[in-house]
Amino acid sequence: MVRAWLLHRPADVAGQPLVLAESPEPRPGPGQVRLRIEACGVCRTDLHTVEGDLDLPVLPIVPGHQVVGVVDAVGAGVEGVRRGERRGVYWLYQACGRCGPCRRGEENLCERPEFTGLHRNGGYAEAIVAPAAFTVPIPDTFSAVEAAPLLCAGVIGYRSLRLSRLRRGERLALFGFGASAHLVIQVARYWGCDVVVYTRSPAHQRLARTLGATWAGPAPLGPGASGAEPVAPSQPGGPPEADRAIIFAPAGELVPAALRAVRPGGTVAINAIHMTDIPSFPYRLIYGERTLLSVANVTRRDAEEFMRLAAEIPVRTEVRVYPFSEANLALRDLKSGAVGGAAVLAVAQETQSRKG
Ligand SMILES: [Zn+2]
Ligand SMILES: [Zn+2]
Repeated sequence: MVRAWLLHRPADVAGQPLVLAESPEPRPGPGQVRLRIEACGVCRTDLHTVEGDLDLPVLPIVPGHQVVGVVDAVGAGVEGVRRGERRGVYWLYQACGRCGPCRRGEENLCERPEFTGLHRNGGYAEAIVAPAAFTVPIPDTFSAVEAAPLLCAGVIGYRSLRLSRLRRGERLALFGFGASAHLVIQVARYWGCDVVVYTRSPAHQRLARTLGATWAGPAPLGPGASGAEPVAPSQPGGPPEADRAIIFAPAGELVPAALRAVRPGGTVAINAIHMTDIPSFPYRLIYGERTLLSVANVTRRDAEEFMRLAAEIPVRTEVRVYPFSEANLALRDLKSGAVGGAAVLAVAQETQSRKG
């Protein structure tokens, strides 16, 4: 038997909607593996799942899509994954492999995707089954609790970096400085890039400077936008013009601000599932062959490349660890903003010390 946190009906996390249940060990089907889970990250998307802000296609469901565990059973026809290997399961549980986007190699845009913890049971549990081909190796550099948050914030952040076309030595502007951005800055610094960070929060400004930002301050917002005093790029007190920008905060008024912050030929990538309406802006902000694009989901390539790169750097994650029994508390703390760093459920004792 394995224990798992089940969501039967979405509700405010104050009411402890997750219920611990025991069920028979899940068996891996053809092409699947089973992981004995060591840790699972607690993401803001889990909060939206549990409180019913997202449409929930399957109930009851086990949340959690940043899952680290050790393979303990292998289904028929699996190649290249062995028992005893430590692997991760992330947001893209599987893509259909048959639709137009999948055939074009754009599995992140799959028309019938399944997401971990939404369509299929996720990682707030002692075991999970997942398609072997969609699991990613976890480098030994990281403990399970350190690796878990990399599987969501890190992988999507890496995809944003790729799509922003950032090249070594260029200057990158980040708008918003949460879980994803604080991993992205470590990659950009590793690539020798200068990084400037726009965020209103003094605490995030300090963290950004600690992680190597050469400038940190509030975003330059146009007339009529609410918020802090504008600091325009290339003006006294503002940072120099950037080559690329990534927007993490879901605020549409940041789009013209980011376009204003990048040079002609530069790129603005939006890493957000939802965003408030983008205000109209003068054409000259995007003229000069600037590119504006959004980033949607991730591919296997993003997960594999980022986990390798994260170990090479190695990136640091600040984690707050909760025992498996405290899943409801972890969600409540995440909602109230009580978590500094990434919340992670420690599901089981790790099999061995990875840090040496
Ligand atoms: Zn997530
Ligand atoms: Zn597809």
